[in-house]
Amino acid sequence: MKLRPLTAAFAMTVMLATATATPALADTGHPSTTAPASDCALPGRTGWTDEGHNTDYTQFQQPLGTKHVLMLFVDFPDAPATGSLDDYYRELAPAQDWMKQDSYGRLHLEIDPLKRWITMPQTSASYGFQRGITFDEQELYVKQAVQAAAPYTDFSKYDMLYIVPTRSASAISFSPTYLYDPTTAGITVNGTRIKWAITFGQDMWTWGYRVADHETSHTFGLPDLYK
Ligand SMILES: [Zn+2]
Repeated sequence: MKLRPLTAAFAMTVMLATATATPALADTGHPSTTAPASDCALPGRTGWTDEGHNTDYTQFQQPLGTKHVLMLFVDFPDAPATGSLDDYYRELAPAQDWMKQDSYGRLHLEIDPLKRWITMPQTSASYGFQRGITFDEQELYVKQAVQAAAPYTDFSKYDMLYIVPTRSASAISFSPTYLYDPTTAGITVNGTRIKWAITFGQDMWTWGYRVADHETSHTFGLPDLYK
């Protein structure tokens, strides 16, 4: 779930296209009883994130149609807001065009920024990003951001969240994906279960929008293909 090399974004390009593109059925010479795509289907191996054929779409979201993304901007008691919200949005917004192009138009991200700073209740250094962050630590981070933003938005309108930290929060270093655990109470706000979120870190200024596409693809169940 951690983004490392840039090549991972391009590996994901290929896999996302595989998962969403309709195969060309004409001129293949296959008998009509054979589903051509099944011949070259990559079998799932992990029982978790796989190439699309064994994906559990209760755990993951289906990469089709429009996905409404709420972008939240957060700052911290030890890292106050800095800069223009528009600059943060512009860094990640091209993820929308990439996803549209890569899915041959079958998948649209619609990123809706909540144009205000949300102040987190804890210091940026306290969440554990610099130790690699655990599931529980990340869930707490998402939960606190959601609770702080709840007075200003309606979470029921969105499929997933992008949580973007102020640039002064150097402790929020990398950009893991939050995938909810259906067997636990997790995070519910005003009746809406929060299932998927990207908790962006300062590496977004290195990778740019590519980190958004890469991490969002994990919410579709796609694996990392790098070691
Ligand atoms: Zn990854």
